[in-house]
Amino acid sequence: MAILKVARLGHPILRKVTEPLSAREIQSAACQKFIDDMVETMREYDGVGLAADQVHESKQLAVLEVAENPRYPEKPKVPLTVLINPKVTPLTEEMEDDWEGCLSIPDMRGKVPRYKSVRVQALYRSGKELSFIANDFHARVIQHEWDHLNGKVYLDRMPDLSTLTFLTEFARYWLHP
Ligand SMILES: [Zn+2]
Repeated sequence: MAILKVARLGHPILRKVTEPLSAREIQSAACQKFIDDMVETMREYDGVGLAADQVHESKQLAVLEVAENPRYPEKPKVPLTVLINPKVTPLTEEMEDDWEGCLSIPDMRGKVPRYKSVRVQALYRSGKELSFIANDFHARVIQHEWDHLNGKVYLDRMPDLSTLTFLTEFARYWLHP
């Protein structure tokens, strides 16, 4: 396995809409190895999700996992999930504000409104169909990755940038005000 280089904000690939994977592509050894590399890269950088375009592949593929994570210590756990060609549908109009960060926008946090509940339809890494409902922080991570696959970053979802903060100032002024 290998740790992949993460594209940072300003790299044009982050603004492109990604392409779906064919069944044949999904089953290829190259794609399966790429998924393993994405998981390793996400864990290396303490991410809770990673989209393929963040590692320079403009494909509809994302991985997510919330385990013991020093970047998000207080968050509920989510098992390792691979989403291929996902479709995400909000199940409620209710939105909630919470902090987000992004491996492509290092050392920053901002408050982002997200739907509290979404339905996810995607393919497993085996190519089989996958459908589930995600709530709260799980739904937030999925909406963040779904945005990446559509060429968007969390800054685009902030109604204004007044909560945008560096991590050091986040810990100092916002975490325990
Ligand atoms: Zn991100």
